[in-house]
Amino acid sequence: MQTERLRIAIQKKGRLAKECQELLKRCGVKINFSGDRLVVHAENMPIDLLLVRDDDIPGLIMDGVVDLGVIGENELEEVRLERVALGEPNEYVKLRRLDFGGCRLSVAIDKDKTYNGPQDLAGKRIATTYPNILKAYLDKQDVRFSTCMLNGSVEVAPRAGLADAICDLVSTGATLEANGLKEAEVIFRSKAVLIQRMGEFADDKAALIDRLLTRIHGVIQAKESKYIMLHAPSETLEQVVELLPGAEDPTILPLAHDKQRVAVHLVSTENLFWETMEKLKALGASSILVLPIEKMME
Ligand code: AMP
Repeated sequence: MQTERLRIAIQKKGRLAKECQELLKRCGVKINFSGDRLVVHAENMPIDLLLVRDDDIPGLIMDGVVDLGVIGENELEEVRLERVALGEPNEYVKLRRLDFGGCRLSVAIDKDKTYNGPQDLAGKRIATTYPNILKAYLDKQDVRFSTCMLNGSVEVAPRAGLADAICDLVSTGATLEANGLKEAEVIFRSKAVLIQRMGEFADDKAALIDRLLTRIHGVIQAKESKYIMLHAPSETLEQVVELLPGAEDPTILPLAHDKQRVAVHLVSTENLFWETMEKLKALGASSILVLPIEKMME
């Protein structure tokens, strides 16, 4: 069912929820998230947000029920593979990878066991919430195994005698360590992504998606960039500029009262490390400022 307003599904609670809300806010979408509603309306744009469980988001997109969704690639791929196996709709358009929700799906084993590669998993029982991604990976390696499907507490399965190994999401690795396990094999690296349903869009909706994408791009770029200003002696200017990350096209300005020095301004795609600042100082640079950038549009 097509609606006039753009429908975006995001996670209601959990790892992606806060950062999704923050991203939309930075994109200028005004939304009041207080309360316990399934659908919230943006106040200043024709956008409705559906606040749902993350594992429902891929299906909502693949069935064409919502226009856009933000989801972890791990969840997306698991649902896609499951739907492929069931012969259900499983297509979507990936609009862009986002800069949050990073994690990896890994096979972990008892920390005291040796691991020489996927063949060591042959004939083993592996506990996981992601049986389809695991099977796709091990099928490629020609490794036969059995699964123990668990939707939570996967990491305790080996100790509880339910499985020989696990395949679970790892972020810092602390959970594995606390349960006497070690990471044996990374099988999938994941980040949050913005996805779109298949099919046609009315012109105004397509234009709104374009605007939103440009803003998301600007927000992510701004977060990763810094505005750098400094004063440098004219005679070491070339060496100073060489030290600055991403300084293809710096602005060089004269100083009002010092003819031996110039001001250098530039947008850098990286942060400026203390070590580089010390080297700049050694070349005679002064008044070095590194400023965050709030918005960016190329
Ligand atoms: P950590 O101890 O930081 O390695 O986190 C591992 C625990 O957090 C496991 O219980 C995972 O299931 C869960 N986890 C890690 N990353 C994610 C994620 N992106 N989404 C959902 N759960 C996650």
